[in-house]
Amino acid sequence: MTPWYAQGLRFDCTRCGNCCTGAPGHTWVSEAEIDALSARLGVDRESFIRTYCKRVWRQGRQLVSLVEKKNNDCIFWAKGVGCTVYEDRPRQCRTWPFWRPLLADRESWDDAARGCPGMNRGSVHGLDEIQATAADDGLP
Ligand code: SF4
Ligand code: SF4
Repeated sequence: MTPWYAQGLRFDCTRCGNCCTGAPGHTWVSEAEIDALSARLGVDRESFIRTYCKRVWRQGRQLVSLVEKKNNDCIFWAKGVGCTVYEDRPRQCRTWPFWRPLLADRESWDDAARGCPGMNRGSVHGLDEIQATAADDGLP
């Protein structure tokens, strides 16, 4: 079946920060990402998880997500700076908005676009790129 986005989708990040701030949620981190972020911050894995992460049960598995600050900003978001771990940000952060749930149908995509001014504007991303990104979107 031809996906509804077969003609491609427009997206250029405006770096507004909406997706990193102001709302509770999950930013999943893989084992490799935990290692990379721990090394970046110069701490061991357990300290990193204790300080920057929460463990979450999902689909019968224990997963690890970054924590938020009290104001629901990502723990690694800094006002005026942006993502302070940008080069080592989790896969999930790199693949937005080409996530499987957002691509399920046009309504899901447009619903997400209401909070992301980069969607439905700017560069066209083709079907192959979208599908390759979604196949490894970093979501559980
Ligand atoms: S909400 Fe969209 S436009 Fe804003 S920083 Fe996130 S991805 Fe970029
Ligand atoms: S790790 Fe960086 S890009 Fe990902 S949600 Fe946190 S601040 Fe945003």
